[in-house]
Amino acid sequence: MWSKTLKLLAVSIVLVIGNVNAQNKALVNTGKSTYAKLSSVDMGNVTWTNGFWADRFKVCRDTMIPNLWRIYTDPKISHAYRNFEIAAGLDTGSHEGPPFHDGDFYKLFEAVASMYASTHDPNLDALMDKTIAVIAKAQRADGYIHTPTIIEERKNTGKEKAFNDRLNFETYNLGHLMTAACVHYRATGKTTLLKVAVKATDYLYNFYKTASPELARNAICPSHYMGVVEMYRTTRDPKYLELAKNLINIRGLMENGTDDNQDRIPFRQQTQAMGHAVRANYLFAGAADVYAETGDTTLMHTLNLMWNDVVNRKMYITGGCGSLYDGVSPDGTSYNPNDVQKVHQAYGRDYQLPNFTAHNETCANIGNVLWNWRMLQITGKAQYADVMELALYNSVLSGISLSGRDFLYTNPLSYSDDQPFSQRWSKDRVGYIKLSNCCPPNVVRTISEISDYAYSVSDKGIWFNLYGGNVLSTKLKDGSSIKLTQITNYPWDGKISINVDQAPGKATSMFFRIPGWSKNAVLTINGKAVTTILSLGDYAEINREWKTGDKIELNLPMPVTMMEANPLVEETRNQVAVKRGPVVYCLESADLAKGQRVFNIALSSKNELKPEMIKIDNSNIMSLTGKADVRDEASWKNQLYKEIATPKQNAVDIRLIPYYAWGNRGHVDMETWIPLDR
Ligand SMILES: [Zn+2]
Repeated sequence: MWSKTLKLLAVSIVLVIGNVNAQNKALVNTGKSTYAKLSSVDMGNVTWTNGFWADRFKVCRDTMIPNLWRIYTDPKISHAYRNFEIAAGLDTGSHEGPPFHDGDFYKLFEAVASMYASTHDPNLDALMDKTIAVIAKAQRADGYIHTPTIIEERKNTGKEKAFNDRLNFETYNLGHLMTAACVHYRATGKTTLLKVAVKATDYLYNFYKTASPELARNAICPSHYMGVVEMYRTTRDPKYLELAKNLINIRGLMENGTDDNQDRIPFRQQTQAMGHAVRANYLFAGAADVYAETGDTTLMHTLNLMWNDVVNRKMYITGGCGSLYDGVSPDGTSYNPNDVQKVHQAYGRDYQLPNFTAHNETCANIGNVLWNWRMLQITGKAQYADVMELALYNSVLSGISLSGRDFLYTNPLSYSDDQPFSQRWSKDRVGYIKLSNCCPPNVVRTISEISDYAYSVSDKGIWFNLYGGNVLSTKLKDGSSIKLTQITNYPWDGKISINVDQAPGKATSMFFRIPGWSKNAVLTINGKAVTTILSLGDYAEINREWKTGDKIELNLPMPVTMMEANPLVEETRNQVAVKRGPVVYCLESADLAKGQRVFNIALSSKNELKPEMIKIDNSNIMSLTGKADVRDEASWKNQLYKEIATPKQNAVDIRLIPYYAWGNRGHVDMETWIPLDR
C-alpha cells in the first residue's frame, strides 16, 4: 500500500516539474482554468523600472522584507520562527504568539519567494532552503502541521489536539502554507516546500472526509480555499479540487454558525456581505477560485450579489472593507433580540461607513484585492481592476509606512486626539503589532507581488491592468514572444508611453484598461489617434499586426476631482473627498500652521487645488495645494449641541497628501472627508 502511494507521489512530482517547464509560473495560475478568461504572466516577467511601483518595490526589497524577516526570527520580538524550531525539536520552550502566527510566517516566506522570482538573489534562495528544512521537520508524519499543537504533542501534555478549537486557525495557517509553497515552487522550481504542502493538503483532504459539520467550522478566515485551489493548479490532483468544492459546500451546515464567520447559512443562500471582513473577502476570493475551475454558476450568482453589495453599499472610498470594530449582524429575517449576533472587525449595514471608528483592517483591504483579481481573471471586466487599483493605492498601501518599517492594523478615514475614547490598535504606525501581526507580512507580500498583477494574457493577446514604469517580457498563449517597455509617472501623471520591443509575428490584441474615473482618454499608435471608442471602466481592444518599434501613447487625464457620497452615508453628508486619478487625498495637521485644526478647515466646491510634487520620508508624493477656509470655531468642550453661528472664516493655504501616506510625519490629526464651505 505504502509503496503504491510513494509511486503515485513520485508520478505527481514529475508531473508538476513538467508544469514549471511549460510556463506555468504565475502567482495565481489560471492558465488552465476552464472558466477564467484571463491568465497571468509568469512571475519575473515584469520588471519595474522607474516611478511609483519601482520605488515601492525597491523599499520592499531593501527594507520591508529584511526588516520583517529580522523581526520574525528574533524571538524577543516575534516567536513565529522559534515556534517552528521548537516544533521541529531543534529548540526547547513553548509556543508563543497568536495561534495564526504560523500563517503570518508563511506569508512572509511567500514575500521572500516572490521577491526571489524577480531578483534571483542567491541569498534569498539559501535562506528559503534553510527555513524549509525546519518547517519540514516540524511537520507530523501524517501531514498535519500547526506549531501550537505539535509543540504540546512533543511534550506529551495532552493539552492540544488537532482541530480541537476552531479559534486555533489551523486551516488558515495551512492555507498560507499551500500558497507559499506554490509560489516557492514556481519561483525556484524546487519541490521542497511543495512536498510539505502536498502532505498537508492530503491531510486536510482525509480530515474533511470524516469531519463533522461542527469540525468544519474550523474554516475561520479561510485562506485555505485559495490555497487548496492553487495546490490543484500546481499538481492537477483532482482530489484537491474535490476538497475545495466540498469546503464551500459544507459551510453553513452546522447548527450554530454565525454571521460573523459567514456560516450561519450556506454560502449560496447569502444575499449580503456581513461579518468579519477579512474572512468574508477571503471566502469570496476562494469561491471565485472554485468557480474558475468548475464554472459552478450558483457560486458566481452569490459572488455577484456580494460584489454589488460591497462596492455599492459597504466599501469605503479608499477601497477599505469592514466599517465596524464591533457590532451586531443585520437582524436577518427577524427582530428577536436573542437572534442578534455579535460581529467584529466586520462589514456594517448598508451605507454605515463611519470615519473615526472605521476598522478597515489592512488584511480585509488586501482580501478585496485578492477577490477582485480573481473576478478580473474570470471575466476580463475592468470594473474589478478598478476596485483592485483603488484598494492598492489607498487602503492597502496605507497599512505600511513609506519607510517600509512601520504598520497599521486598522485604516480609519479620520483621526482626532479629541475623541474621548481610545480605540483598540494604535493609530500611530508601529514596528510590530503585538497579537495581531497578520497584516504586516500580508502587505509586504502584496507589494512584492504587484508586478504579477500588472498584465494578463488571453487567447486574443495581452491585457494592461495596472500602469507603471516597467519592462514586460513574456509569452502569449500560442507561445509567441512579446516584449514591451512602459514609461510613465502614473499615478501622478496619466501619460503612459509603451514601446513594442518585440512584436508577436501575427495580428494580436492589446487591451488597454480605461479606468472608470478617466474621462477624455486618448490613445495614439505611432502618433495617430485610434478610432476605437474608449469607454470608461472598460478595456479598449486594439487588434493589429504590431511591429517592433511601434509606439503607443495612452493619455488618461487626471483632474483633481471632488467626490461626494450617497446621502444615506450620514457620516459624510455635506463633505467632500478629494481624488486625483486613483489616489484619494487627506488633510493632516502636519500641513497646517500652528494653532489651526484639521476639523476647522472647509473646502469650496470651486477650489483650484494644484498638484505639487513633494518628498515625505524620502518618497516622491504628489500633494495638492490650494486655498481653503478656516473657521474660527468656539470650543466644543463639554457641549453636544449649540446654536449655529456665522463663523469667522479666513482663507488659508492648505496642502493635501495621498491618504496612503498619512501618519508618516509623527502623530497627527487627519481627515479624508472635508466639510464643504457653508
Ligand atoms: Zn491583518
